[in-house]
Amino acid sequence: MRASAASHTEGVPAGGETESAAAYVPERPTLAGLREAAAGCRGCHLWERGTQTVFGEGARGADVMLVGEQPGDQEDVAGKPFVGPAGRILDQGLEEAGIDRRQAYVTNVVKHFKWEPRGKRRIHQKPNWSEMAACRPWLDAEIEVVEPDVIVCLGATAAQALIGRDFRVSRQRGEFVESPLARYVLATVHPSSILRQRDEAAREAEYAAFVDDLRVVPPLLNGRSP
Ligand code: SF4
Repeated sequence: MRASAASHTEGVPAGGETESAAAYVPERPTLAGLREAAAGCRGCHLWERGTQTVFGEGARGADVMLVGEQPGDQEDVAGKPFVGPAGRILDQGLEEAGIDRRQAYVTNVVKHFKWEPRGKRRIHQKPNWSEMAACRPWLDAEIEVVEPDVIVCLGATAAQALIGRDFRVSRQRGEFVESPLARYVLATVHPSSILRQRDEAAREAEYAAFVDDLRVVPPLLNGRSP
């Protein structure tokens, strides 16, 4: 585990060239091949900071793809997406909304944990646009292989990366947007934002709204139009 990545300008390697994972993505991707190749990715400087690449998980042909921002502290250690506290909220929300997690593929826009030290703790840092752009070839390859019917962006970072910089989750959550990425694309909050609410009542309200946003998905999978 290293903490040296902040030593150069973020997103810009020493030579000035643009960072990208593109050169690491196999030409004929399979999920297993992508996962293996991504484990050795040095497409941007974030590999120096995270413990390991945290690639997406789920079945090829999964109906729903859920896309978050980046792995968190626990995901970084486990090497699996959405296994920490936010992952537990996601699992619970999916179940309540009637979405079978086995039919879902979960991943992140950025595959390495970006953090800064504060005492003994590793504090999440939001990835910048250069880092998201560098890592994007992995997400594009995952979408190409999985071919989900529905993509749900979890939180503003994923929504702005996949839908557009002007997208505002607070105003447009739960709405379908036109996208070449999948038949149905929508966004809701990131489950970690539910945990950050100021009190239990606010957490409950935000969780209920999150589940409501997810409830639009099962009818789509049963062939009903929104
Ligand atoms: S964050 Fe993405 S592009 Fe950067 S090293 Fe990790 S996998 Fe590669």
